Amino acid sequence: MKDATFADLGVSEVVAGELSQRGIDSPFAVQSLVIPDVLAGHDVLAQSPTGSGKTLAFGVPLVERIKDSDPRPSALVLAPTRELASQIVDDLRGIAHARALSIAAVYGGAGIVKQARLAGKAHILVATPGRLMDLIERRDVSLSRIKLLVLDEADRMLDMGFRPVVDKIVKMCARERQTLLFSATLQGEVGKVAKVYTSNPRRHEHAHSQERKGDVEHRFAKVTHDGKVTRLIAELNEAERGLTLVFVRTKRGADRLVKRLAKTNVRAAAMHGDKSQGQRERALANFEAGVVDTLVATDVAARGIDVAGITHVINYDIPATREDYVHRIGRTARAGASGVGLTLVTHEQVRETAGMLRGLGLDRELAQGGLPGGGSGARQEQAGRDGSPQRGGRRGGGRGRPQAAGAAPRRKGARNGASAGKRRSSSSVA
Ligand code: ADP
Ligand code: MG
Repeated sequence: MKDATFADLGVSEVVAGELSQRGIDSPFAVQSLVIPDVLAGHDVLAQSPTGSGKTLAFGVPLVERIKDSDPRPSALVLAPTRELASQIVDDLRGIAHARALSIAAVYGGAGIVKQARLAGKAHILVATPGRLMDLIERRDVSLSRIKLLVLDEADRMLDMGFRPVVDKIVKMCARERQTLLFSATLQGEVGKVAKVYTSNPRRHEHAHSQERKGDVEHRFAKVTHDGKVTRLIAELNEAERGLTLVFVRTKRGADRLVKRLAKTNVRAAAMHGDKSQGQRERALANFEAGVVDTLVATDVAARGIDVAGITHVINYDIPATREDYVHRIGRTARAGASGVGLTLVTHEQVRETAGMLRGLGLDRELAQGGLPGGGSGARQEQAGRDGSPQRGGRRGGGRGRPQAAGAAPRRKGARNGASAGKRRSSSSVA
């Protein structure tokens, strides 16, 4: 049977053609679910894991629903971080231009005057909540004619304390509007705000088996506190490694680690909230190009980094929550590639880590790393729930090596996925 196409979902020829030029021909599961509903004018709530293709799930029907004669801005996409906002613009610029629409990103940490000018001219505005509020207060932007509102990574925006600002922003948008909300979970507070922001929404929670994610090999290593750096360096010196993202807990920890690595001739760049926008963009561009193949990041800074070719994610510091674990490891194995997620666990953190990861179905991997598993009952019941790592296609065997076809980790600088070479230019405006 032939795969469905974007045209089958009602997407126009120009937009489908533009996607096809990027090697994107068959919609991912969340796209097949969401696109027809949005084209039909429905509000949508979608829960779907990292890497499942949410950007195009809202971006494609969004550019179809806006016309170049519409007021500017007519569509607003809210995103939690500047990296994510500029990545969304990079992902959507081509299809927006194909429909003669302009798109701009606004986010903090970059000059407001230039952003204000470009924002005033854009049909589609992609914004972090704080900066958008600044622009509204300066009267540079008005939301009164926003007829299509998207909240991307809504759970994360709430986690980051944006609820009051987002509430205000949503109230300022046209009452007669279409609202789409994307989140890794629709439970708890996100579920509540979703009810307030949308009307009569179609709800999509798509199962893991449909994900087009590659296999992640989860590894754990017990280390002493002092042995952490040595273990990390050994891992970074592995020949079969592509781009590697190393997670640390604090900004200072990131800077410290980059310095220590430099002493052993491992070139790494730090990515965190104290870096200027320019520094972040340079670090990310160098990382994507493989100039610096190791990026040391904090959780918030890494959010939204979607770089093809990340073969390893290393938790140098353990994550604070199970969700953080899932989000961190989700940075590898994008778009069908395979990857390794290694977590360094000090002896004092063994219990905490095992408890935190209970329910993700990683008992065997934890045991291989010398950590107690979480108990098989929890595993059966919870594996595959929202946000848990994809487990499809792995069936015992081998020492936990990925089993997907051609699963050998990519070499340095290698690329995977359809969007190779197309991601992230640094300008914020189309
Ligand atoms: P999410 O927002 O759900 O985490 P993204 O929208 O960032 O995921 O998509 C993850 C990756 O998959 C991106 O590199 C994107 O270009 C790629 N991608 C998305 N949809 C498709 C598709 N239909 N075919 C091939 N690649 C796709
Ligand atoms: Mg996304």
